[in-house]
Amino acid sequence: MIEKDYIIVGLGIAGITICEQLQEHGKSFVVIDNGKEGATAKSGGVFNPTVLKRFTAAWNAAAFFPFAVEFYNQLSDKLQLEIYTKTPILRIFKSVEEQNNWTVASDKKELRDFLSSNFLKNTNIAVDAPLGFGEVLGTAQVHTNNLLTGYRSYLKDKDALLVADFQYESIQQRANSVVYKDISAKKIIFTEGSKVVYNPFFPKNAIVGNKGEYLIIKAPSLKMEMLLKGAMYVIPLGNDEYKIGATYGRDDYTTNPTEVAKEEILSKVKTFINCSFEIIGQTAGVRPTTKDHRPLLGSLAENPNLVFFNGLGSRGFLMAPLLSEALFNFLENDVLLPKEMNIKRMI
Ligand SMILES: Cc1cc2nc3c(=O)[nH]c(=O)nc-3n(C[C@H](O)[C@H](O)[C@H](O)COP(=O)(O)OP(=O)(O)OC[C@H]3O[C@@H](n4cnc5c(N)ncnc54)[C@H](O)[C@@H]3O)c2cc1C
Repeated sequence: MIEKDYIIVGLGIAGITICEQLQEHGKSFVVIDNGKEGATAKSGGVFNPTVLKRFTAAWNAAAFFPFAVEFYNQLSDKLQLEIYTKTPILRIFKSVEEQNNWTVASDKKELRDFLSSNFLKNTNIAVDAPLGFGEVLGTAQVHTNNLLTGYRSYLKDKDALLVADFQYESIQQRANSVVYKDISAKKIIFTEGSKVVYNPFFPKNAIVGNKGEYLIIKAPSLKMEMLLKGAMYVIPLGNDEYKIGATYGRDDYTTNPTEVAKEEILSKVKTFINCSFEIIGQTAGVRPTTKDHRPLLGSLAENPNLVFFNGLGSRGFLMAPLLSEALFNFLENDVLLPKEMNIKRMI
């Protein structure tokens, strides 16, 4: 029998951040992941502590933000890969009223570091932005492909990754441990993203899948190096390629690209991009959202050795690093999880 402190199921951003916590504190673990692309792989990788619809700070941004910045910088150094590039977001103003609202918001304590009070003029003829841009600072692009492939090979080198579908029926629960096939561990931490709905130990209806689709375009005359936010995000991928989106499809767990989403993205992008482009791809993934927009951490009374780290919604990159620390402190140091992120609120 192989003995570990923890078994982790799923390797998206939740799995990676909890692995890093365990690693930092000298705990042994093995990750079981099926190698299929989850939300992390299909996301835009935008790291943004603000809400650009209403010009407010994201929930708990003041705590999440500095912790996450340090996490990505340290992980980039450790993996010797560029997984995080600082880049502003240019938010296109739709009206003078929006400019006024931005000015008021940029003076608030929680937004002062993020919403620049100087407006930028548009000099890019491929972009339609007569009222210019508000510049969001402190933001970044997480290079999800580097993050996932880099972390997978890091785990493989440590012999800590099993590529397989986890089989829930093979769990045997003991008083102070769990046995899964030939591995015995203190606990299993489930970080399966929206696929957690197939986990028989997870409370029914606690996660609401929200499908998001992107178009990948090639636009040689767009020449945009920063993140651009109009009716949708334009995310530079290099080589004149961009990701545009994403759509929101509540209660949709399918991952096939659709014609409806393509039409929606095209009609929105044409409201602020006026150069020609070629569609070279389309992707779709499912956000693990919750009804109250808060994460789901911890375990339930009936299965104390089965632990969940889920509900990262549409802000996974901002929230996961600090949440992984909260989960670690709950597991190892008996620190209670705050009610608003504790999975027990679902029961
Ligand atoms: C279209 C889209 C755009 C997004 N854009 C952004 C953005 O710009 N910024 C941001 O912060 N967030 C964004 N998000 C949200 C973000 O991607 C998620 O919050 C985050 O990635 C969730 O991570 P996770 O680790 O919980 O799940 P996932 O990334 O889905 O990882 C779960 C992993 O577990 C594996 N797995 C599941 N079940 C099993 C099993 N039984 N056996 C083995 N393996 C299993 C899956 O295959 C997957 O690899 C976006 C999401 C989508 C879909």
